Amino acid sequence: MPFRNDKINLELFLNPISNNIIYKQGEKIMNRIYYFDHAATTAVDEEVLREMIPYFSYSYGNPSSAYTIGRQNKMAIHIARQKVAKAINAKPKEIYFTGCGSESDNLALKGITYANSKNKKHIITTKIEHHAILNTCKTLEQEGIEVTYLNVDKDGKINLQELENSIKDDTILISIMTANNEIGTIQPIKEIGKIARKHKILFHTDAVQAIGNIKVNVEEMNIDLLSMSAHKFYGPKGVGALYVKEGIDFKEIQDGGHQENGKRAGTENVAGIVGMGKAIELAYENIEEYNTKLIELREYCIEELQRKIGKIRINGARKDRLPGNINISFLGEDSSELLLKLDEKGICTSAGSACSTGDTTPSHVLMAIGLNNEEAEGALRITLGKENTKQDIDYLISNIVDITTFK
Ligand code: PLP
Repeated sequence: MPFRNDKINLELFLNPISNNIIYKQGEKIMNRIYYFDHAATTAVDEEVLREMIPYFSYSYGNPSSAYTIGRQNKMAIHIARQKVAKAINAKPKEIYFTGCGSESDNLALKGITYANSKNKKHIITTKIEHHAILNTCKTLEQEGIEVTYLNVDKDGKINLQELENSIKDDTILISIMTANNEIGTIQPIKEIGKIARKHKILFHTDAVQAIGNIKVNVEEMNIDLLSMSAHKFYGPKGVGALYVKEGIDFKEIQDGGHQENGKRAGTENVAGIVGMGKAIELAYENIEEYNTKLIELREYCIEELQRKIGKIRINGARKDRLPGNINISFLGEDSSELLLKLDEKGICTSAGSACSTGDTTPSHVLMAIGLNNEEAEGALRITLGKENTKQDIDYLISNIVDITTFK
């Protein structure tokens, strides 16, 4: 690394936890939190942060500039692109950096539709997609595109026959998420890819919850477009990527300069992109070991809650599920109240997807898998990550038991 970062005392920001108290410059700033909301976001990994720092300070050149500090940053982006591509078995030139997962979803759906909508006017998706997909579909419907929303079964899986039956002569694109953000259910992506290929239809998957958590191989799975977001795998917020298979044309949705091969205008978020590259590399380094640990913690948590509370329902698939995802309905409880009481104990969980916090309508995902209102209102999402331990789970369980038993 050609830049000096010795003047920045990173130790002031890193490892500040001692005796369950967080310190900054020797002063107590808050009690330790017990974080169980990794599907909402994750903390930037220390190694990732260290790689990013120079790009906020000494290495500030615009990657489009011809002088050395510009060219060096262009090279840093190139290296990050290689790392992202390697993680999903793509080619570097198939990776387009964006500002977030939502932007990648917008770019995929609108970019492909606008490039093809002269002759074709139909998209297939599911009822349980993230709002980045569902609201993009709504916009496209207002512009004359027809959208089919596939049902899911009680586990949250689509029916492959229903998918095949819904294909029309003018279907442009199938967009089905790899893994669901609320219930963690993983879709049969390889089989969906096969169907899309057989009918010569493009296949996009929103893999924002999957990348960094499970292995995804775009070649083996016949994926044509894939969205991801760095803050879901210990990278920074405000940077995402879209994979687009070589040879597939899509229309840019933002006018401006020629960055990202003319497909995403705007001066690149160099620090963010470098962070994303490092984060994805780290995420896949020990993925099997990491997943085994998360599954053990997940199963322990579910079993203990079943044993100690009884009146619960596990939502989502038990087998094809993200390793760190637990979604449980506490019957007779209001999960938004439960969430606030847990927060008083320093525990972070979610009563739905983070994006719908403050929204009191029942989750569209829980409704789609057939929950009644009582079950949906009592649903709490607990998502585990690399800093969680068995002791953390015990603390969480004892607080849930106290809150639900002694009301
Ligand atoms: N898609 C899914 C499945 C998500 O879970 C999220 C965020 O939670 C997004 C898209 C949006 O990603 P971002 O927050 O980077 O815009």
